[in-house]
Amino acid sequence: MSASDSQRMEQIVSLCKRRGFIFQSSEIYGGLNGLWDYGPLGVELKRNLKSYWWRVMVHERDDVVGMDGSILMNRAVWKASGHEDTFSDPMVDCLLTKKRFRADQIEPQSGTVIHFAGAIDEQLLRETFDYSFGDIPEPKRRELEEHYRRCKNLDELTRHSDPEVREFAKKRLGEIARPVRIDEPFSVFLPKGKPPESARKVAIQYYQQRGLTNPKLTGERSEKVENTTRYNPENGSLLTEPRSFNLMFKTYVGATEDESSVTYLRPETAQAIFVQFKNILEISRKKLPFGVAQIGKAFRNEINPRNFTFRSREFEQMELEYFCRADEGMKLLEYWREERLKFYENIGISREKLHVLTVPDDERAFYSKGTYDIEYDFPFGRQELEGVAYRTDYDLKQHQQASGKLLEYFDDETKEKFIPHVVEPSAGVDRTVLALICDAYAEDQAPDEKGKMETRTVLRFHPRIAPVKCAVFPLLKNKEPLVAKAREIVDLLRPHMFVFYDESGAIGRRYRRQDEIGTPFGVTVDFETLGEKNAALKDTVTLRERDSMKQERVAIKDLPSILVSRIS
Ligand code: ATP
Repeated sequence: MSASDSQRMEQIVSLCKRRGFIFQSSEIYGGLNGLWDYGPLGVELKRNLKSYWWRVMVHERDDVVGMDGSILMNRAVWKASGHEDTFSDPMVDCLLTKKRFRADQIEPQSGTVIHFAGAIDEQLLRETFDYSFGDIPEPKRRELEEHYRRCKNLDELTRHSDPEVREFAKKRLGEIARPVRIDEPFSVFLPKGKPPESARKVAIQYYQQRGLTNPKLTGERSEKVENTTRYNPENGSLLTEPRSFNLMFKTYVGATEDESSVTYLRPETAQAIFVQFKNILEISRKKLPFGVAQIGKAFRNEINPRNFTFRSREFEQMELEYFCRADEGMKLLEYWREERLKFYENIGISREKLHVLTVPDDERAFYSKGTYDIEYDFPFGRQELEGVAYRTDYDLKQHQQASGKLLEYFDDETKEKFIPHVVEPSAGVDRTVLALICDAYAEDQAPDEKGKMETRTVLRFHPRIAPVKCAVFPLLKNKEPLVAKAREIVDLLRPHMFVFYDESGAIGRRYRRQDEIGTPFGVTVDFETLGEKNAALKDTVTLRERDSMKQERVAIKDLPSILVSRIS
């Protein structure tokens, strides 16, 4: 992330907190990593996004119905779906800090590796040596003690000018060096340009953690490596071999905590749709192709939650399972990719920041015949917003086999029975909310009260998803007729949209506060509205548009229709 991108991200995170979009979960207790709470504006933004998704994916189509499944399900679901055995990431641990990384997120590097071996603890040697003076007869003992005090370490003592002292020190060293030598080798990666001392520092820390208080590093050797081995990018320390780590949160259902009561918080919403496929097919009487949509919470014990809400441990998904015949799968995969791109454009995300990645064969789930990732250019890099995957008939087949219940579709015309295939567009609510905020965040120049230009922070949300659609202001707060009129307008608009009434502060400041939370329209009731100066302007107000800051005079009675049409 460049400095300006990371600065932009910091400003976004700070605005989110300051204006009540997103807070750290359990903040007063120091928070809990990877968990977030949505504040008064965040919840509105999220709801608008979810409602629009539901409208487009369910209400505006004849071929999709919705459902809302439970978060906890019979453990058998997760066994059959393969999640219990395989929903894991290969993880590597740092030998020094114990920090875990996803193996596929650590790039192998080229550089120099310094291998250390046979570390000895100098401190421990000195202590043992000290103690050993006890059995030396006087006056040699006092003489040795005297020398020892002057020497800073054992090495010096073994190089002492008195041959007798040297001899004694060497002998003692030979006797006691063995038990405090650590033979465990340790390697540190040095990227180009980093001094070898930094590698020694890391190695010293490593041996200190293994009980050497003052390690002396012997047996040092360096070697050039090419793009093969993985080292901790933060400190150069060697990483362990990859090991699997299951991402599902385990829990127990009922009063006993044993194997028989184990289940998991769902890591995706899709499985509820597959296991209810038969019920939905029967009651909805849909013909293929048709889909079942669901929005709901999902939980993953992510190893490295990061990038604000981008990778969280609790998040929401908007998923559609679109069932079809086998020969329609690939075509529908393309169809849904295009539909989903349109969706992102329709909520105001810039097309040039959206990208489609064709997931390569070796990175796709083994059962998938094709997967696209829809990605967005976040300030922290290009990352996945949504996966559109052709999952074949894998899931229904697995559940039919494991449950022993037929999950087949009967085709009236051909009289065929078969397990349908499925194409799945699976989007993340939280990632999309973050993309919306990142895309909308802007700073521009706007005149202040006295007409002087100042920097304005503005969220340029599409009116469709903006948390507050319209703000209503009486020009002055202590002029009763202005306040009464503004209140009337609020009542007029409330059945159609979420409006916000604000009477405090100078009008320019009130506009700024709304710009910062992305309110697209502002209505001001002034003396003209009361018809005091010009009867023709009675019952009209100024309507201000957030991005252009243009103002127009409109009749109060026309406000609902004007705003409703501009919002949608
Ligand atoms: P990633 O590779 O980023 O971990 P994924 O490919 O595992 O994601 P899917 O299993 O395809 O994700 O889930 C579908 C969608 O759910 C993702 O595109 C994303 O929008 C959302 N999602 C998945 N994991 C998380 C998470 N930890 N935090 C927030 N959203 C998530």
